[in-house]
Amino acid sequence: MLCRLKCYLVIPVSHKYKPHKLSSCSHQLVAAAIKQAEGFFRLPVMPIGVIRRSGECIHLYTRKHMNIRAFYGRGTYLFMNVGFLASDSPPIEQLIQDAGQGKWAWSGQASSDSVHAMAFRVKGFLKKTSSVSSMDRLSGALLRLTTCSNESLSETDAGQSSSFENEFIAPNVAGIDHSPAMENILDAKRRPTAFDPRFLNTAFMEIVSKPVASNVGPLDSDDFAHALLKYRDRSTVPWIFNAMVNEIEYRKGSTSPEAFPPEVHLSTTGMCNINCRFCGYEQSIARPNCVRPEQIQKMTYLRHSQTLRLSSGLGEPSLNPYLPEIINFISESFPHIQMGFFSNGIALNGNKLLDAIVGNVNWIHISLNAASPESYREQCRMDGFDRIASNLSHLHSAKRDRRNLMPLAMGSMVLNRKNLFDLPKMPTLCRKLGIDRLTIFPFFALGSHDPAKFGPDDTLAACMPRYGPLYEETIKTAEQNRVTLEIPAPDSHSGSSFGMPTRSFYDFAQIESNEWPLGRFLTGLKFDVPEGSYCHFLWRYAAIGNTNNTGHSPHETHFLYPCIGPLSSVDLSRRTAFRFKDEKGFLKLWQHTVLTLLRKAQHSPGICEVCDLCRNNNVRDPAQFRSLEEQTARFVETHRKI
Ligand code: SF4
Ligand code: SF4
Repeated sequence: MLCRLKCYLVIPVSHKYKPHKLSSCSHQLVAAAIKQAEGFFRLPVMPIGVIRRSGECIHLYTRKHMNIRAFYGRGTYLFMNVGFLASDSPPIEQLIQDAGQGKWAWSGQASSDSVHAMAFRVKGFLKKTSSVSSMDRLSGALLRLTTCSNESLSETDAGQSSSFENEFIAPNVAGIDHSPAMENILDAKRRPTAFDPRFLNTAFMEIVSKPVASNVGPLDSDDFAHALLKYRDRSTVPWIFNAMVNEIEYRKGSTSPEAFPPEVHLSTTGMCNINCRFCGYEQSIARPNCVRPEQIQKMTYLRHSQTLRLSSGLGEPSLNPYLPEIINFISESFPHIQMGFFSNGIALNGNKLLDAIVGNVNWIHISLNAASPESYREQCRMDGFDRIASNLSHLHSAKRDRRNLMPLAMGSMVLNRKNLFDLPKMPTLCRKLGIDRLTIFPFFALGSHDPAKFGPDDTLAACMPRYGPLYEETIKTAEQNRVTLEIPAPDSHSGSSFGMPTRSFYDFAQIESNEWPLGRFLTGLKFDVPEGSYCHFLWRYAAIGNTNNTGHSPHETHFLYPCIGPLSSVDLSRRTAFRFKDEKGFLKLWQHTVLTLLRKAQHSPGICEVCDLCRNNNVRDPAQFRSLEEQTARFVETHRKI
């Protein structure tokens, strides 16, 4: 069967496209895409350029016109775009099988109007008896596959979309489109993701049709990153090139990155409306600042990022009265950005917030923490359980009424001695509340000395012997309820990575998608260390927290903190103050000497003892607290001036 399969990678090109003008960087990116496709199919894949103006089909390297007769031979023809290659589990078998049955088979997602691939056999799609209409159909289909971000669907549709959209084969086995909470809602919509085919098509059109001058030697990651930065700085989809540069810098452990952080986590207020016993928050330490829409408007560099989280550190974002306006602004200004936030869910239903969230925010993560009102009261010292359930029910109704899959509702629990026995009941509760994913965080008691709060004796590590059977039972109920579960492994099998105990992951709801797929287009590059050798916080996430009244600068509202690990408690408010400055100012902050030092510490032991300890140990284990506190104090003292 496979020997009669002919595969083509389609890339949009302008009518002025000249193959001999392709730069070395363009060549390497296209070659990496072809290699990826050939890896999927284990067959040669031919690159085809589709001229956007005419729908004409050319060989990408020779510019030779490809006549309809090229697709009239025996066998199955499969055309894919670069978006198909970003999929972790492309539906190759299904496409071939459907085409073999005479169908015009398409892979795509009707919810976001995205198409990834199509396959046919001559009898099923092209008719030898009418070559003119067959050519029109093929041109229309190829135009549809190579749609770019600045084009509306009607420009490329050729009147055909309604004939296949309901029969799309999903490009991935998992993703928000599979949400069990929304499974009975037909024709539900969502925004395209940051790496949707239309955005990747645009990036590759720029790569081949407007190549930057570059002289990149094979395997040379520095020159490659340099050329990608040139693409980024003139691109209409800069986050794609930024993500590739970030991937290179992260893999190399560059100490002064040129890529903007792909994820920005911004605290929109430091105030909270409850006072959980596992959290360091106190009303007396909070400052009443709220981020305003005009401040967000200054963050033009978000065009380089793929994700904006509207929460970071302590604080409840729904208390910010401007949050709906901020969400609407981001959604209109940066259609590619994936937004989300953590919330306790108590005030979710006020202030037109649900209106703004549905259809604009990709995910919302509710801190549930308990399986009953009594247990919730013990954790959070107020009667919020029923309110949260009611607010989630309103959110769910709004999603269903508007037939929108967004936001995906997720839940979490900070696991401690007092709610340990709630754990196996949580997946059933999640399903009842329309929550598709549950994350269990082990309680982190570092620095907790307040007798009114939980302390080291309440950590998961302190009650591990009772945890094993509960862990097994929770996995079973999560599977029964189709709730995706991320949960700390019981002691006997656990390791740790950058301060976090290893968590087991079960995608029972089939909703999880890969948010870092672009590394596969950098396969020609050589890196000295295996992937994941360096702490990801220092390259991939800019965490911007609110200042508070624990000694932070009285003149600042926000500052950049390095990670959510042990160094999150260090007061950097006077050194890494975040003042909503312009792009240049933000990049300078991202390259601040404190972060440079910590990035250097990823390469060599002895530069930061805290990072050395954190890299190889479970820092949530109370046995580590004493040395961590001492080493953090030494870090603060030694680097007071940087
Ligand atoms: S809701 Fe969040 S910020 Fe507020 S007290 Fe609880 S854990 Fe802390
Ligand atoms: S302490 Fe260092 S290694 Fe650990 S999470 Fe923070 S920056 Fe990363």
